[in-house]
Amino acid sequence: MTVGIGYDLHRLVPDRRLVLAGVQIPYPLGLLGHSDADVLTHAIIDALLGAATLGDIGQHFPDSDPQFSGADSLVLLGAVGQLLGATGWQVINIDATVIMERPKLAPHLPSVRQRLAEVLGLQLTQISVKAKTNEGMGYLGAGEAVAALAVAQLVPTAGVNCGV
Ligand code: MG
Repeated sequence: MTVGIGYDLHRLVPDRRLVLAGVQIPYPLGLLGHSDADVLTHAIIDALLGAATLGDIGQHFPDSDPQFSGADSLVLLGAVGQLLGATGWQVINIDATVIMERPKLAPHLPSVRQRLAEVLGLQLTQISVKAKTNEGMGYLGAGEAVAALAVAQLVPTAGVNCGV
């Protein structure tokens, strides 16, 4: 069994959408980035790739590549799920925390978990997403950015992955 950790942060700016795990959250500001800047999905992708020692999101989906401009990060997550399957890995569980001062994420968490479970072909009981504020401290507390942390646990598929 292996564990991976992921972290990401994107600035909150005007004239952008606020998308977390593919769920668009109504708010005057949105996340700035080359793709849809889905900070939660990016942290989860890095946790999954890390657990499988398959590099990181920047190696697989470079932000210098025009094909990922405005990309739907759930599509990227789906591709990572396929890659894990092809390289002999099965996801046991994912646990993530989103750090954002506002808006309140709690009402959206059921949809967020549902979308992640669908894309990865997992049960809801395998995906946990939590939300915290930064207690008004620093740039996160000032609502200037959103950060996300994730851990993922993988197990090698019997007879396929001989590296563990
Ligand atoms: Mg990112």
